[in-house]
Amino acid sequence: MKVEVDQDLCISCGACVDVCPDVFDWNDDEKAAAVAPEVPGDMEDQAHEALEGCPTNAIKEH
Ligand code: SF4
Repeated sequence: MKVEVDQDLCISCGACVDVCPDVFDWNDDEKAAAVAPEVPGDMEDQAHEALEGCPTNAIKEH
């Protein structure tokens, strides 16, 4: 599973960073970004939770 944050859609709410901090963190533009684009297997549930919880559907799964 790979994830990516659409920077144009992210509103910096922080939900994904709270739910899955090993995969999502803030970048220099104060938007969320995937620090681990290739999600480790044991993180996939958390990453999915973050994806589904994003209010603007900014998190894309590849
Ligand atoms: S949950 Fe979505 S809108 Fe909120 S910080 Fe993460 S990517 Fe941005």
